[in-house]
Amino acid sequence: MFKTAFRSIPRSLISKVNFGYVLSNVLESNLQIRKFSVHEFQAVKIFEDNGVGAPRGIVAGTPEEAFQAAKTLDKDGKGVVVKAQVYAGGRGKGTFDNGFKGGVKVASSAEEARDIASKMIGAKLITKQTGAAGKPCNKVFIAEKVKLTHEYYFAVLLDRASAGIVLVASREGGMDIEGVAKRDPNAIIKVPVSIEGGLTKETVEKLVSDLGFKAENKEKAVEIITRLYNLFVSTDATQVEINPLAETEDGRVLCMDAKLNFDDNAAFRHQDLKNLDDESQHDAREARAKQWDLNYVGLDGNIGCLVNGAGLAMATMDLIKLCGGEPANFLDLGGGANAKAIGEAFKIITQDPKVKAIFVNIFGGIVHCDVVAEGIVEAAKKLDMKVPIVARIKGTNVERGQQILRDSGIAIYPIDDLSQAAIKAVELSASQ
Ligand code: GDP
Ligand code: MN
Repeated sequence: MFKTAFRSIPRSLISKVNFGYVLSNVLESNLQIRKFSVHEFQAVKIFEDNGVGAPRGIVAGTPEEAFQAAKTLDKDGKGVVVKAQVYAGGRGKGTFDNGFKGGVKVASSAEEARDIASKMIGAKLITKQTGAAGKPCNKVFIAEKVKLTHEYYFAVLLDRASAGIVLVASREGGMDIEGVAKRDPNAIIKVPVSIEGGLTKETVEKLVSDLGFKAENKEKAVEIITRLYNLFVSTDATQVEINPLAETEDGRVLCMDAKLNFDDNAAFRHQDLKNLDDESQHDAREARAKQWDLNYVGLDGNIGCLVNGAGLAMATMDLIKLCGGEPANFLDLGGGANAKAIGEAFKIITQDPKVKAIFVNIFGGIVHCDVVAEGIVEAAKKLDMKVPIVARIKGTNVERGQQILRDSGIAIYPIDDLSQAAIKAVELSASQ
């Protein structure tokens, strides 16, 4: 649904506003909505079923289970790796909300694995990808420790530019692929794959050569990459990201990490995968919004936005940003927004303690302005809202709508002009 919304944004708007900001924030967070994920330990099981090599591992929900898992896995005392299971990358460099550093840790004994697990389980892991709130770590994956000789980056993704699947790979894999991409874009190899032609052996062989795999590992690398591609296609994935895909000292090529995302729209074909979805990893506000058919994406700013239509929502967020403010969320009421949905939207927005002002920007086409106004007033009264509201409503029955707002006796600033309204919202958010 968002894909369509993005396509329908007029070019003129894209060039005028700070679109990059919206694109990176909303698209990134929005992936939460139209994709679903699985945990690494589940991905590793899927890999096993598809002949894709990964270190052996056992999932643990308690420190004691972690201890037992480490004992089972590590017969010869090489140690194990304790890995926090959260829906986010960048775990290695993450920090837990209890101060414990690192979501991927080597343990040299089962006792140490237990100790590390006790710090991870029940805490929230904050990484580059989680936002400030972090993601709860309820399980750890205890994995066989493997000696790596080289770490590559490999991903199968959907690519807008080539309108198809693309393989993305780099010889410089490991933890900070975003950094590599910034420093040296040439270090990232992109290979678009034709939908009609599929992935040919020659293409994979060339990629493996370009990446510089050791001669004796080339065939194994070709095989694992081909299997990962086939897995991507057969599961309707939107992302298969392995960072690192590694060559090991004992001559294997293994997926040392696994970030799998699947297309929500194809979930009906993959109920087994969809069933793995871990509710605890979703933003509670987003889950709630979904129940009311609202498109909500939580962001890190302090101005709550209540808008109808994804295009208007993005323009609103951009304007806030241009005026020096920060949106706290993206909330699209959709076309048929009624008073009840508006009430729920307000509840979701005001549950965020960071929100210091609310910017309502509604174009009343299908939904009439007076209905919107009634919804706003009713919700504001019922919720006893202290946060000031800037309301810019336009369209059908606008006069009646504005009258309702003016007569309401609550702290609502009805402002007609979009820029003025945005400036006011930013001003209010800064003064609270
Ligand atoms: P991420 O930080 O969420 O991407 O988590 P990863 O699963 O990629 O782990 C972080 C890093 O730990 C990897 O990039 C590897 O460099 C390292 N790592 C993970 N498992 C092993 C292992 O068994 N052996 C070695 N040597 N390094 C490992
Ligand atoms: Mn990784």
